[in-house]
Amino acid sequence: MRATIDMESLIADNEQLRSELQELLQQAHINQSIIERHQAFDLKLIGASEFRELIDVILTVMPGVFSLETVTLSLIDGDYAIQRILRDLQIGVNEFPKLLFLKAPLHFIDEDGPLEDEKPRLGQYVPALHGALFPNYQPVSVAVLPLVRQHRLLGYLSLGSAYAERFTRSLATDFIQRLATVAAICLENVINNERLKHIGLTDPLTGVNNRRYIEQRMQEEVARSQRDRSALSCLFIDIDHFKRVNDQFGHQSGDDVLREVAARIKKELRLSDALGRFGGEEFVVLLTHATRDDAARIAERIRAGICSRGVMIEGSRDPLRISASIGAAALSPPERSRPAAEVKQAMLKAADQALYQAKEAGRNRVMLAPAE
Ligand code: GH3
Ligand code: MG
Ligand code: MG
Repeated sequence: MRATIDMESLIADNEQLRSELQELLQQAHINQSIIERHQAFDLKLIGASEFRELIDVILTVMPGVFSLETVTLSLIDGDYAIQRILRDLQIGVNEFPKLLFLKAPLHFIDEDGPLEDEKPRLGQYVPALHGALFPNYQPVSVAVLPLVRQHRLLGYLSLGSAYAERFTRSLATDFIQRLATVAAICLENVINNERLKHIGLTDPLTGVNNRRYIEQRMQEEVARSQRDRSALSCLFIDIDHFKRVNDQFGHQSGDDVLREVAARIKKELRLSDALGRFGGEEFVVLLTHATRDDAARIAERIRAGICSRGVMIEGSRDPLRISASIGAAALSPPERSRPAAEVKQAMLKAADQALYQAKEAGRNRVMLAPAE
């Protein structure tokens, strides 16, 4: 009799254990698939080599992988250095409404005291604290992950959920902390990469684009104008009697004049135009959607701007009078059948020849290449 009872209870125990094991296995499977998803996401983050790609992984892929209602990335860019690089590399920040730029670190104080630089903050969404990080969507609970590299705060990765219990103050933060570290490393790498690219395309003396950039960009714009049948013009600008500045006042003053001329040209341009230092005291301007008439008008404005007032330089009591000659050439309508590289060369050559004529005709003037 006793043996039968023991047998029955053993069987019951066994079944109980089996079902518990089944549940554990199921949970392990779920955990395994979460870990795999997270690892796959880490690889995507690490694999992104360009800014645009990384931002896309963070802002578009991440919400799906982690079942979040929103993810935003805020970068601290008080001196606009990052935004300037992105603009110059033609990475439109408007493409990413969830990419935000802050002038300074946030200094919010919540129930846990002032925000410590390195620690993620989890809890309920509070408009006064988190509003700047979530301008377009009000989550219910949030995780704010400071992105820190070598004790420097790069920005915040902000995760928003529609559920109050998703991010609570008591939740363990190891996983989130790890995510923040990986994201910060990737972000720093990618920004440094873009910075290097930018340096390779910038003239260090004047800060405008260099010849490599302007030639590359010109070819792209020629191809674009061939496709859309839009107008495109370019200007070749050369400072008059620049050698005399160097000879009389020294190379340093010559450099000051170059910087000032670059700034005066830039002032007359739209954001979509491109300015590059082509060689010593020569600049090239690319005017998108500008006809021959537009080019003539803008060139005249630039010429007048350059000689509008003297430049103060060391070693001279009076401001130095400067001027430049400009040759302009237009592509309208662009020939579709010729290779873009060839059309680009022809346009540059035409502008250069017009510049030569402007010099011959007495300098400080604009000459137009004949219409094709
Ligand atoms: P023109 O009106 O015919 O253009 O006369 P110019 O004296 O401007 O022409 P030229 O081409 O003879 O002289 C260009 C001078 O630009 C010669 C060179 O010393 C100077 N130059 C070239 N690159 C730099 C630079 O980076 N800094 C300075 N300070 N001078 C430069
Ligand atoms: Mg020259
Ligand atoms: Mg010159």
